[in-house]
Amino acid sequence: MKKLLGIIVLSLILSSSAYAIEKFKFKYNLHENLPKKWITEFNNIMNIVQEVMPINENTNHWVKNNMKLMNMKQGYSMDVYAWKSTKNPFPEKRANMKYSGLEAVNSPAPWLQLDINPNDLKSSVNKIRTYSVVVHEYFHVYQRALSHDKILDRNSPKWLFEGGAKVLEEIYLKQYYKKYLLKNDLKKSDNWSIKRVSEEPKLYEKYNTSPQKKGFDNNYSGSAFIVLALVNELKKNNVSEQEAFELVFREFWIQRAKKPQGWNWQPAFQNTFGMTVPEFYERLSKYKRKDLKKILPSKSLKIQDIFS
Ligand SMILES: [Zn+2]
Repeated sequence: MKKLLGIIVLSLILSSSAYAIEKFKFKYNLHENLPKKWITEFNNIMNIVQEVMPINENTNHWVKNNMKLMNMKQGYSMDVYAWKSTKNPFPEKRANMKYSGLEAVNSPAPWLQLDINPNDLKSSVNKIRTYSVVVHEYFHVYQRALSHDKILDRNSPKWLFEGGAKVLEEIYLKQYYKKYLLKNDLKKSDNWSIKRVSEEPKLYEKYNTSPQKKGFDNNYSGSAFIVLALVNELKKNNVSEQEAFELVFREFWIQRAKKPQGWNWQPAFQNTFGMTVPEFYERLSKYKRKDLKKILPSKSLKIQDIFS
């Protein structure tokens, strides 16, 4: 009996270790100046996005190797720093961190930082931006994981990288906070110009040719419009809305992983979307500002439906 029990216990241990998939682990460094409510939301959001868009050793071999390396170096895969805007928030960790973003990309050890604006925390309208930024920046980690770290200018178009993150965070806000800032952001004429977007989309392929400033790509509004136009064109090709967003948010990055660093991203675009980049830009040139209301995501769209 004892022996049998031993065998059962052993086989349980073996089977659980055989099936335990190691996750990409974040270490949270949350500044004491953040409100408790924000920290609660942050924890919830991180749980949800990791569940819906998981990153783990099965994602691909690049992620598996990166996790092994980082776990050996620091015992986890990536640091997350968050603070309410203040000078030099974590002097003992990294000096003078400023702004939100995924930092040191293309290095073996990037980190995620969230610089939370106190005015946004106080504003009834903009408060949810302090939450959606968590979704936005996590999504960059996801894009990096799927693409084998091919997310910046040299490797992928900024409008797809940032526009995708912008649209995804807005779908999240609609689903979890019942609020939608996307429509208002895109309606503001000084956030972006339809002329630039429709006639010169190439400018939106790089950060330095499409600065995040008024009239260009403020709040990534111009990039978001291009992403929504792409989804709309896919729908015309009989792709469902969920499927079209899945191609933009996930499949493109999987395709992008297949070619080496620095190689042109256009073949990955064609493989994913079934049209060439010039074909898409030609279709984009027909768009007018008033098309916006026709191309906004459905209000009932759920991130789980996109990533399932
Ligand atoms: Zn971003």
